[in-house]
Amino acid sequence: AKSAGGNRFELADEEADARAITRHGLTTALPTALDRGEFFIEYQPLVHLGDSSVRGAEALVRWLHPQHGVLGPDRFIPLAEHTGLIVPLGRWVLEQSVRQARAWRERHDDAGPFRINVNLSPCQLTHPGLVQDTVDILERAGMAPDALCLEVTESALIGADDALLKPLRRLADMGVDIALDDFGTGYSNLANLRRLPVSILKLDRSFTQSMQRFPADPVDLKIVEGIVSLAHSLNLAVTVEGVETGAQAEQLRILGCDTAQGWYYARPGPPERLHELALVDATG
Ligand code: C2E
Ligand code: CA
Ligand code: CA
Ligand code: CA
Repeated sequence: AKSAGGNRFELADEEADARAITRHGLTTALPTALDRGEFFIEYQPLVHLGDSSVRGAEALVRWLHPQHGVLGPDRFIPLAEHTGLIVPLGRWVLEQSVRQARAWRERHDDAGPFRINVNLSPCQLTHPGLVQDTVDILERAGMAPDALCLEVTESALIGADDALLKPLRRLADMGVDIALDDFGTGYSNLANLRRLPVSILKLDRSFTQSMQRFPADPVDLKIVEGIVSLAHSLNLAVTVEGVETGAQAEQLRILGCDTAQGWYYARPGPPERLHELALVDATG
């Protein structure tokens, strides 16, 4: 029993070592990955629940690693945050996405305003260059601030002091939309929303998931209904993520949600796919 226990320990150690080695390898490879152009962005459409039209897209970054293949953001964003690379990486994502939004707009100038959502890490919030970088990127692309929505997680803003909120407030004053991402997973109290410069609540996927069962739990429905009515009374629009079925979409539409995102409409994909979706939408 003693030796078996010993082996188990060794195994666990080896796994931990392997994970640490990979983590270390990825961390050291991160800075050159940006220079080598190994990152790319997939776009997932944001759909208006009222008429099912595509109104925009969220930019989601991926890393095409020469050995490990395509890595999702959960594998490397925490490392990039830890090393500070998130600042240049985030700036790159923003620049690419805003340019993509411009290209989209040029091709579909009849399809109405198209907006691009970009995720912002807490480290970018505290970086002094955020506002100027954003202004420069929008200017270079010839895009108005209201074409951009920056998504900030609820947890990043919990207990945020005025110094942290100031850059967000300046961006919001310029016309950039700020969305509170993963809403409902943190502990922020609803009254707190009033002091945040946000205009969109992005309901976390866990709410959408509870709508998969039929009939959905009436308490869950009441909670979403309550959040939506509170959001609307504070002049906030509600976006829901993780919509995987038509039944969920219909339920969320009835509950008053404004915009939806999820596999039911489209998985994240290359920008060309977004152009195709827009064309289908315009003709169909
Ligand atoms: P998020 O902001 O909550 O993004 C939504 C995630 O849900 C994405 O995962 C998306 O692919 C996934 N998703 C979309 N629709 C569905 C659905 O119908 N069902 C299910 N099960 N999942 C769906 P992804 O692409 O792996 O991104 C994970 C997280 O990484 C994002 O979560 C975001 O927090 C972060 N992230 C992605 N890109 C960036 C970036 O450029 N900068 C920063 N700072 N974070 C990023
Ligand atoms: Ca997001
Ligand atoms: Ca706006
Ligand atoms: Ca989420």
